[in-house]
Amino acid sequence: MEIADIHCHINFDSFNGDRDEVINRAKIAGLEFVIDSGFDYASNERSLRISQMYEGYVYSTMGFSPNRIGKSDYRYALNQILEFSDSIVAVGEVGIDLKKAKASYEKQKEIFLEFVRVAEEIEKPLVIHARKAEERVFNIIKSRDITAVFHCYTGSESLVRQIQDAGFYISLSTLVCFADNVEKLVRHVDLDYLLLETDSPFLSPLKGRNEPSNVKFAYQKISQIMDVNNDDVSNKLIKNGSEVFDIHP
Ligand SMILES: [Zn+2]
Repeated sequence: MEIADIHCHINFDSFNGDRDEVINRAKIAGLEFVIDSGFDYASNERSLRISQMYEGYVYSTMGFSPNRIGKSDYRYALNQILEFSDSIVAVGEVGIDLKKAKASYEKQKEIFLEFVRVAEEIEKPLVIHARKAEERVFNIIKSRDITAVFHCYTGSESLVRQIQDAGFYISLSTLVCFADNVEKLVRHVDLDYLLLETDSPFLSPLKGRNEPSNVKFAYQKISQIMDVNNDDVSNKLIKNGSEVFDIHP
């Protein structure tokens, strides 16, 4: 079975002691590739370094989380993306967070738009972080000339259809293994527009730190809910991931 974790943060310090083993376990679990996402200048730099260390297996995306506004300068991240555009597979995570981020909606939107423009310019997909702002983000990008992935989607069921109709992707996290609201979304998702992720080190379906190999539990859960066999789900999703991020291992 070929699977992938399309969004995680193994650039966190909590992986410094055993990153090799984590990568090994991912390979053993059948992961074809892992995408690590930065969320500000420093984590983007770490993400890039890790993708170079595990070249051809770990891929990097560079972004700027709305939660970092006021703590880190987004313009450094913007320039970094332009400088390393050939070494990354997407721009993100970027977006709007009306649950946790302290900055105003207007400020978040203004900064988000700068990253949307950069993604268009370098012709890379967008990895979107949207919390209590899924619809607003969707309306901002729906007519733009980009591919977008709503990472760790926890928005409404009705918006799922609109996102897919616009040709954008829904990425469900390992939350699907234990959160009823995410499990309910699966009935509304089309396999053609679905991706799966762990968002490690967060959202573990077990206890403690999450890691990419755990994405297999999300795959199993999807097969079970949709009543589609494991291989059909993984074949479809690995194809989606390869196409969106232009990864061909
Ligand atoms: Zn994330």
